[in-house]
Amino acid sequence: MNFDQLFQTQLDQLKDEGNYRIFAELQRKSGEFPRVRNHSDGQDEVTVWCSNDYLGMGQNPKVMEAMIATVKECGTGAGGTRNISGNAHHHKLLEAELADLHGKEDALLFTSGYVSNWASLSTLGSRLPNAVILSDSLNHASMIEGIRHAKCDKVIWEHNNPEDLDRKLAALPANATKIVAFESVYSMDGDIAPIAEILDVCEKHGAMSYIDEVHAVGMYGPRGGGVAEREGLMDRITLIEGTLGKAYGCVGGYITGSHALIDFIRSFASGFIFTTALPPAVAAAATESIKHLKESGWERAMQKRQVARLRARLDAEGIPHEHNPSHIIPVMVKDPVKCRMLSDILMEQFGIYVQPINYPTVPKGTERLRFTPGPLHSDEDIEYLVMALKTLWKQCAIAHAVA
Ligand SMILES: *Cc1c(COP(=O)(O)O)cnc(C)c1O
Repeated sequence: MNFDQLFQTQLDQLKDEGNYRIFAELQRKSGEFPRVRNHSDGQDEVTVWCSNDYLGMGQNPKVMEAMIATVKECGTGAGGTRNISGNAHHHKLLEAELADLHGKEDALLFTSGYVSNWASLSTLGSRLPNAVILSDSLNHASMIEGIRHAKCDKVIWEHNNPEDLDRKLAALPANATKIVAFESVYSMDGDIAPIAEILDVCEKHGAMSYIDEVHAVGMYGPRGGGVAEREGLMDRITLIEGTLGKAYGCVGGYITGSHALIDFIRSFASGFIFTTALPPAVAAAATESIKHLKESGWERAMQKRQVARLRARLDAEGIPHEHNPSHIIPVMVKDPVKCRMLSDILMEQFGIYVQPINYPTVPKGTERLRFTPGPLHSDEDIEYLVMALKTLWKQCAIAHAVA
């Protein structure tokens, strides 16, 4: 049996479709965000326009210092699972910080946001009696996989449509334990869920609400508690999930909720129990990052300013982008090969890095470049990007937005 041939056939098919993923090999430069070195082609100075370190917190001096100091104090790894010798004081401090951030009784850490969704949804769905998970049609892969693994009944409701959710909840049997899973900011289109309306529907039907605020924590709300904080809705949500790997600039995921809910997941979730805990230094750095963004509004205000600025400049130059109420600016290319080509040229000729977003991350025909301006992108960075896009738009003869 030639196994490599089996692998290669499927890889070749991906390449033919233009959907083969190529990772840029980058070296981030501390203190110079959003500048990186690109080892793939030896460019020393590249500007990143698609980082999930939305606010540059991964290079915040206080956050770095917390990590360095804790490594010196405690060493590198946690030394075990939370159950067997790996439950560090720093984990408990971070969980208290997270519970406070979302106004919940308790919080639980995971090794990533992906794992937190996967483990929590699969545990809720598999252990609660007559569980039915109602999932927004555009939910992230980590939620979809968690729901799949739960092996309970599931219902997909139309994206961001509370009326459709209402109809689907009404059709369920009275004895079902209903769990409604959705996100606040959807990261590919940058649209935001009508959270209040969804919660109204959940409450009407006695359903549990499960929100993924991964692309919102640190960035929305007066203390960075997410869109639900901004809208005063956190206390109406059963479970709030987030990540430490995006705006907080570290790594790790978490859930927050009542004591009983958190104790339940802690006690039954395989994806929490049987894996080495996060390094204490990561927990200390994340705690510092959360604390900083609870107090400091500068990063959020400056990000909003730069997002508005890039949108306005794209409009002025007729470069089509999706209008949405978030910090994510999708520029639609609608062709996987062109999308990759534009990204390649931006990197090679302009030192601009934006990853092409192709199928299966987004539906075929909606391929895009996705820009995430942050507080550390200067006005000159924005001008240079718009100039580069303008040049390419002409060259590639892609339809301009209808004026
Ligand atoms: C990135 C992402 C996750 C996973 O978080 P990680 O900490 O990166 O594993 C979960 N949900 C959504 C919506 C995401 O975009």
